[in-house]
Amino acid sequence: MHVPFVDLRAQYLAHKEELDAAMAAVIEQSAFIGGEFVRRFELEFAQALGVKHCIACANGTDAIYIVLKMLGIGPGDEVVTSAMSWISTSETISQTGATPVFVDLDDYFTLDVQKVLDAITARTRAVIPVHLYGQPADIEPLLELCAERGLYLIEDCAQAHLASINGATVGSFGVAATFSFYPGKNLGAYGDAGAIVTNDSALASKFRAYANHGALIKHQHTMEGINSRLDGLQASLLSAKLAHLPTWTERRRAIAALYNKELESVTAVTRPSERASARHVYHLYVIRAADRDALRDHLEKSGIGVQVHYPRALPFLPAYSRFGFSPDAFPRAWQIQSEILSLPIYAEMSDDAVRYVSRCIREFYRA
Ligand SMILES: *Cc1c(COP(=O)(O)O)cnc(C)c1O
Repeated sequence: MHVPFVDLRAQYLAHKEELDAAMAAVIEQSAFIGGEFVRRFELEFAQALGVKHCIACANGTDAIYIVLKMLGIGPGDEVVTSAMSWISTSETISQTGATPVFVDLDDYFTLDVQKVLDAITARTRAVIPVHLYGQPADIEPLLELCAERGLYLIEDCAQAHLASINGATVGSFGVAATFSFYPGKNLGAYGDAGAIVTNDSALASKFRAYANHGALIKHQHTMEGINSRLDGLQASLLSAKLAHLPTWTERRRAIAALYNKELESVTAVTRPSERASARHVYHLYVIRAADRDALRDHLEKSGIGVQVHYPRALPFLPAYSRFGFSPDAFPRAWQIQSEILSLPIYAEMSDDAVRYVSRCIREFYRA
């Protein structure tokens, strides 16, 4: 049996007519940049999350950069974020001239709130929790802490479309939140795409202008900005796919539940745990495995696509060697980077495929 890590083609084939029509409509109308299809997707996505404004942009990295920039964060400022994430979360902080301050993880691979508290200085301006792998961060104490200290809370929701806490979707908590629609994300475009959401109308206008050369109205540049717009083609595809996202999310959760059951007896494997009151959307199903690298080889030899998110926690990347961090500065991130393994998960994956992957894992530890 061959089980790929993700199968974007399977999703396309399952909805081919609808997706082809969505793209054709854009080409018919030559609505390539901005325009009706982008507006429609922005309205639909805001509605799906229960927020007032959605500003589409070119990718999830720009989304974070635009938010930081328009909140006035820059040289001399510090922004606290997670030691385990994709580099977008921290490189955008540096791009504004501010300094990323990394914080270690809790039991759910998200920001350890106590350590956030310890990391705050007089220079701290914002905290960026990452809802990593689709699991919401411990948002309520973080919100409280940010309110008390006068800090902005910006949610990095790139991996957590439709995840929620006590029924409120992630993206609705902070001053602003950012999303990625990179093809492999839970809601994925056919190229790069991203969005910012916020309930603050004044900020929404700033984000929108900055992403479009500093102009809300053509030729009326109230400031310098950047070119970070969403293509009509991507917007139209995303609208079509958004309608399926609740069903796809349920399927991801069902796959995770099946993995949990199938791997229950394997003591060498720690299965992902769900935070109480949170709805995990399993962008990734990440186990902690004894002898991880050998297990990875075994699974790959068995025709299974697996990955590691991420093989090196951010503080230990060469990109941050300037800080000179030692392993004991982030003990949890240091430990898990050699244990974590992302198993295949995507809505079109069959129960048989989940059972096959699980059986191969059980075999590895029995041998
Ligand atoms: C994917 C991702 C991003 C960046 O999104 P792009 O659209 O690829 O720029 C940011 N943060 C996290 C946690 C991500 O997983």
